[in-house]
Amino acid sequence: MLQVGINGYGTIGKRVADAVRAQPDMEVAGVAKTRPNFEAEAAVRKGYPLYAAVEERADRFDAAGIERAGIVDELVERVEVMVDATPSGIGAQNKSLYEEHGTPALYQGGEDADLVDVSFNARANFTEAGGAEHVRVVSCNTTGLSRLVAPLEEAYGIEKVRATLVRRGGDPAQSSRGPINDVLPDPRTIPSHHGPDVQTIFPGLAIDTLGLKVPATLMHTHAVNVSLDGAATATEVRELLADESRVFLVEEGMAIDGAGGLKEFALDADRPRGDLWENCIWSESITVEDGDLYLFQAIHQESDVVPENVDAIRAVAGTADAAESIATTNEALGMGF
Ligand code: NAD
Repeated sequence: MLQVGINGYGTIGKRVADAVRAQPDMEVAGVAKTRPNFEAEAAVRKGYPLYAAVEERADRFDAAGIERAGIVDELVERVEVMVDATPSGIGAQNKSLYEEHGTPALYQGGEDADLVDVSFNARANFTEAGGAEHVRVVSCNTTGLSRLVAPLEEAYGIEKVRATLVRRGGDPAQSSRGPINDVLPDPRTIPSHHGPDVQTIFPGLAIDTLGLKVPATLMHTHAVNVSLDGAATATEVRELLADESRVFLVEEGMAIDGAGGLKEFALDADRPRGDLWENCIWSESITVEDGDLYLFQAIHQESDVVPENVDAIRAVAGTADAAESIATTNEALGMGF
């Protein structure tokens, strides 16, 4: 069993821990947190050994009566792969910790691409992470765009991608984020930084992106236009995307008109935390006009990177190839509806 440690037990970290636990070939050796709170209590209740991420603050866990297995250095020493799921920029500060112990580490999309050897998306470049010491699982938006670009590029070739990203203002628990009554061009400069991030996965891809932030917490919505090299019909594109294991085509008959409906659907399907690991593409929106493909997709920012982290663990450890890993991850999580 691959021993995996998780540093940072927030939105992404706690989901990655549960996803790792669900796999037949890996085990959560422990999770690290900076401070005691309800999430620390939940980790202990779930049976995850809990380590203090900051040695000087370790006694806070003891004072709060939360059982502690040790400090993060001990966790990093014992595991084969660390997943860093700390806030943006903290992963970069933690890099030397992983290096000191010679433990390969995964970072999240909030870190800069130049921190790592490889930026990762399982569908697009799994093999590139083989043997790498520092791998970045790209952001929720870049993951969502990469899963779309990969099959289109293979089937038709891509002349150019243009995508408008309508981004949620914050996650549901982030009460300090916004806007609460506005629609913000964000960034105001065009193109946004999201396109170059997609190019860390597809270096030669022509892509321009525009970003907005809106008063919503549930999901991001992408309005995508792809100029294809080869001829395609909307039906063919629909069939192509239906074959992708991490794409969920939202069919007209489901009467799901937005992120609220999607989340309700996921909860009714007994998804943990109402998570939607797949790109949710409205089937009706898939349109091809004069070689230009158009569609809308919703991306659940809290969870689409979770299966990617699981695959990145196997890629770094060299324990499976892309197809095996993706199939195992999907099966263990219950991907697909
Ligand atoms: P979060 O704030 O929900 O969780 C981060 C956790 O790390 C918190 O529990 C925090 O207390 C803890 N932490 C802070 N400093 C730490 C330290 N020094 N050592 C250990 N733990 C520490 O953040 P998140 O949303 O899970 O984001 C984590 C990373 O994932 C970021 O890089 C972010 O950009 C990326 N990401 C976030 C989302 C999203 O929508 N939430 C989506 C994709 C990628």
